[in-house]
Amino acid sequence: MDIRELLRDKGIVGAGGGGFPTYAKLQQQGIDYYIANGAECEPLLDVSKEIMARFPDKVLKGLNHLKEYTGAKKAVVALKRKYKNAIKSLKEYRESSKLDVELFEMEDFFPAGDEHVTVYEVTGRVVPEGGIPLAVGAIVNNIETLYNVCLAIEEGLPVTDKFITVGGDVPNPITLRVPVGTQIGWLLSFLGIDYKDKVIIDGGPMMGNIVSPDSPITKVTGGLLVFPKNHHAVRQKEYDLDYILKMASIACIQCLYCTLQCPRYLLGHDLQPNKTMQIAGFRLSTGHIKQAFLCCECGLCEAYSCPQQLSPRYVNSIIKKEMAKAGLRYSTERTEFLPREARDWRKVPTGRLKARLKITEYDKHGFLVDGSFVEPPEVTIRTKQHAGAPAVPIVAEGEKVRKGQLIGRVPEDKLGCHVHASIDGTVVKCDNDKIVIRGVDDRWKEQ
Ligand code: SF4
Ligand code: SF4
Repeated sequence: MDIRELLRDKGIVGAGGGGFPTYAKLQQQGIDYYIANGAECEPLLDVSKEIMARFPDKVLKGLNHLKEYTGAKKAVVALKRKYKNAIKSLKEYRESSKLDVELFEMEDFFPAGDEHVTVYEVTGRVVPEGGIPLAVGAIVNNIETLYNVCLAIEEGLPVTDKFITVGGDVPNPITLRVPVGTQIGWLLSFLGIDYKDKVIIDGGPMMGNIVSPDSPITKVTGGLLVFPKNHHAVRQKEYDLDYILKMASIACIQCLYCTLQCPRYLLGHDLQPNKTMQIAGFRLSTGHIKQAFLCCECGLCEAYSCPQQLSPRYVNSIIKKEMAKAGLRYSTERTEFLPREARDWRKVPTGRLKARLKITEYDKHGFLVDGSFVEPPEVTIRTKQHAGAPAVPIVAEGEKVRKGQLIGRVPEDKLGCHVHASIDGTVVKCDNDKIVIRGVDDRWKEQ
């Protein structure tokens, strides 16, 4: 089977949060760099580091398969210089396997893992405004995605599990592999974590979102961070649009810090968040507002740069949604992009960011433990865990399914990836949004 078809069949999507179907990124012409993005710049998350340290064979084989398929000239793992265990494991496996893969060691700054930033660091090429890495001859995949690619190609396995770090205000942060669809609240209780008066963030403190304990783990869940309700990292995720717009008009002092430290502005893009704050705050009507489209929502402006605790990121995200609703796209006639001269010395060190976020006390490494002991009583498999069209269920309530079995298909002519059962059990609910499977182990039935 062709690799693109195989990856679609096995449900492989960007596991780092984007959820873009991996097969759809593959192109067989003009690729100079195939990049494994191991920068993992979100504080408190350890999934990529742990996978690289524990499964270097899977990561490098996955990367090499896609390098060969696309005809890329180089395969590169981009990761931070400080990830000593991961670097040691990758180098040892590279040595024994003789795979032709380069390691690119980055400094510890935020957001080193932003796709445009990683591509520039590795290749010296700036992805154009509104463009994707293919525009400069690069393809980028997350580390767990490449692990899944290896399992699919070498063992025929679909995506049924997700690696996550459980951290924040918990006694012992941990990284583990759990079945897709596991209920978040069940998992935290199972791990002995009291979350009742706390807030759970899916993903990192910078780009993650507050999530309900009733939600299931999906193929793109970045991690689960538990914080006290009034913690700084939580407060900045509870913005109210009217309040933010009012504050943009009365509290933005146009100091430009948000712009001068914005990673996309520093790459030479025409994104100036101080301008979007001014335009939005005073409800001005100007074409400049479209530059909000260039924002990657890394959150640096709100969490680090702004002395007035305003959120250009939030304003940009709202403008982007409104643009999408209106069918507007960003376009530019510029064809050449050069990073700003000040870029190198304006990079924000992750340590300073952690201090600003007031999370230094939670900064403990979550080592990977074998997650095979996590057996949820029930899983909820969402039919849309990826960019594109949802999968259409092909099972019915009452039907018995086995782990790895195909249970939802995306129509052939649509972008998207199929979904699979993540445990053995019986389908107890099935609709357009989800397929619920109750496990064969009924120890938990009464809960
Ligand atoms: S950093 Fe804050 S106060 Fe300064 S220009 Fe940006 S939004 Fe306004
Ligand atoms: S969130 Fe802020 S700092 Fe990040 S890209 Fe958007 S405007 Fe720039």
